[in-house]
Amino acid sequence: MELVNGIYQIGGIPVLDICKEFGTPVYVYDASIIERQYNKLMNAFPNKNMKISYACKALTNINILKFIKNLGAKIDTVSIQEVQLSLKAGFEVQNIMYTPNCVNIDEIIRAVDLGVQINIDNISILEQFGHLYGNTYPVCIRINPHIMAGGNKKISTGHIDSKFGISIYQLRHLERVVASNNIKINGLHMHTGSDILDAEVFLRGAEILFEAARSFKELEFMDFGSGFKVKYSPEDNTTDIEELGEKLGTRFNEFCKEYGRDLTIMFEPGKYLVSESGWLFVRTNVIKQTTSTVFAGVDSGQNHLIRPMMYDAYHHITNVSNPNGIQRIYTVVGYICETDTFGWDRKLNEVREGDILVLHNAGAYGYSMSSNYNSRYKPAEVLIHNGKAKLIRRRETMEDLLATQVEVEL
Ligand SMILES: *Cc1c(COP(=O)(O)O)cnc(C)c1O
Repeated sequence: MELVNGIYQIGGIPVLDICKEFGTPVYVYDASIIERQYNKLMNAFPNKNMKISYACKALTNINILKFIKNLGAKIDTVSIQEVQLSLKAGFEVQNIMYTPNCVNIDEIIRAVDLGVQINIDNISILEQFGHLYGNTYPVCIRINPHIMAGGNKKISTGHIDSKFGISIYQLRHLERVVASNNIKINGLHMHTGSDILDAEVFLRGAEILFEAARSFKELEFMDFGSGFKVKYSPEDNTTDIEELGEKLGTRFNEFCKEYGRDLTIMFEPGKYLVSESGWLFVRTNVIKQTTSTVFAGVDSGQNHLIRPMMYDAYHHITNVSNPNGIQRIYTVVGYICETDTFGWDRKLNEVREGDILVLHNAGAYGYSMSSNYNSRYKPAEVLIHNGKAKLIRRRETMEDLLATQVEVEL
């Protein structure tokens, strides 16, 4: 979003026009930012066999999936429904990775029947998988390298208490299960959390996977997961992707020589690809001055963007209706009937009732975590693509809210 002659625009389109056309609250995504992020990550690595697998749980609108597919990406899914969506978006089965956690073997069988790459993260399911398929269906293994990483405990997945992955300390047991069932392991995977700042964390994890790789002779790829930190607040640091690409990419090429085969290096970013590409535009319903605080109450809430309340996440807020107004302090809150705060003590250009505010970095885990709490409709979604604003999801209606309810005789 740029401020051009006092008017906020995305891809050359004034944001207030978008809000007028599609109403608020509305999620708006800029396809060109997704493409920029994809290219930045690809270009940071010196490896010729490099693949980005989009972790689609961040944002699953079918148009976004298609756009990312057209960039040349693979896709990472965590449920059978995400697998089905990916197929609908046109991904080929060999480009779909299915990385579930704590699902029933039946769901894994369904994924095998569809033909996608399976990534297994516990020994019990791996054993059942081995009994069913032996060496007829190659499988990837998710290793937990036991590295404490990530923005906070809710989004850290590689530590000792985490439910994710097969512990690196169980390697010997893992080898036994693989050998006795004659399972073909074609990939090793790790994903140690979200909002990881330090490239060293990835390098340490990678060394652990390289070590584990000695036990598996038929690998075709290694997947180092994701968790790249993006800039939420203007003061935030971000993962240095160039440094990571240089160091890990070089080390990976060395490893391939030792291993004796050129493997594919994979990453599966969600946030890194789509976070900055998205904004949530909301309208100010009321300015409410209490004894201690000036609240700006808007026509949205944690039902549409839960990250501030769920993860204490900071989302930058701008008043796009009054770029030249004097700056004042506001606490921006939603319309949900419980404490529902988007931002405390924010310095904003004077907010008047009716002004449009925008929450930045709303592309990842925004719409995909939204709900109908308080029986509110979910917002519309708009994609800016080739200079046009296109509606990619309509706003809900009362019919949508009632669609799955069954009225009985009472
Ligand atoms: C959620 C998830 C990701 C994406 O994490 P981001 O922090 O959004 O990049 C990648 N891999 C797996 C297995 C995940 O569950």
